[in-house]
Amino acid sequence: LKLLDELQLIDLKLDGIQGEKETLQGEIAALESKVDEARGAIAEKESEAALLEEEKKGVEENLALELDNIVRSEARLKEIKTQKEYQAVSKEISSARKLTAELEEQVLQKVGRLEELKADIDARNDNLKELEANIATQKNEIQGKIEKLMTDLDSGTSAREADIKGLPASVLKRYNLLRVQRRGVAVVEAKDGACLGCNMNLPPQLYNMLFRADEILTCPHCQRILVLRQQQQ
Ligand SMILES: [Zn+2]
Repeated sequence: LKLLDELQLIDLKLDGIQGEKETLQGEIAALESKVDEARGAIAEKESEAALLEEEKKGVEENLALELDNIVRSEARLKEIKTQKEYQAVSKEISSARKLTAELEEQVLQKVGRLEELKADIDARNDNLKELEANIATQKNEIQGKIEKLMTDLDSGTSAREADIKGLPASVLKRYNLLRVQRRGVAVVEAKDGACLGCNMNLPPQLYNMLFRADEILTCPHCQRILVLRQQQQ
């Protein structure tokens, strides 16, 4: 019974350590996803900038083409003999000029937007570096805690194995089954005539039998194995 009680205490401790470890691992995952998020946002901005750069290049090519046309038309003007033809080419030139003015405006807009984007990306990269440095520190701290837990887990596990060796297989089986059924708690303390697992009063005769501690007794209400802790110390 003493071994069983010890086993229960060890198992609860191990459950606690396991839970703590999972919480810490969750914290690390949350920190990592924060970095991933920041990286993803930067990648998005970068592809937006690349697209804009492409668009700007396209507009600049159109602009160069239009400017060439104007130069050519102006050269043609000098060779024109008739008034009518002269007017037609002049009209072409002025509409081409209007178009180039529009294209130049478009290029300027894109350059402005690109500068904004690049400043934004730079700022985000600076933030990311800071975030990564912070997170590296935090992760180290958490990792340290996890390692400490792993050491506790190891010593608890060896203690557990030593306990198990001293217990009959049938008792162990009963204990394990109860652990599954009773959310991890198979052995509970009986105190002042009551079961501390379910807080129900125990029949006086059963309670008295506990003092002899020569057999495994269970609570008639929650079926957990009962022990008297104070009397054992
Ligand atoms: Zn009970």
